[in-house]
Amino acid sequence: SLLRDDTVARLRICPNCTWLFVDRSRNSSRLWCDMAVCGNRQKASRHYRRRMAANEVRNA
Ligand SMILES: [Zn+2]
Repeated sequence: SLLRDDTVARLRICPNCTWLFVDRSRNSSRLWCDMAVCGNRQKASRHYRRRMAANEVRNA
């Protein structure tokens, strides 16, 4: 069965796209459904927001 106990225990919800995924990393530290997609997107948006804030300060 796909839904064995250890699988259910490692179910996560991606904070970026809210997809369910199974964390199969050795130390259960995975945050994203796909590091290459949601992990990078989250980092990029955080970086973008910081840049915007810096611009606002400079223009004030
Ligand atoms: Zn995701």
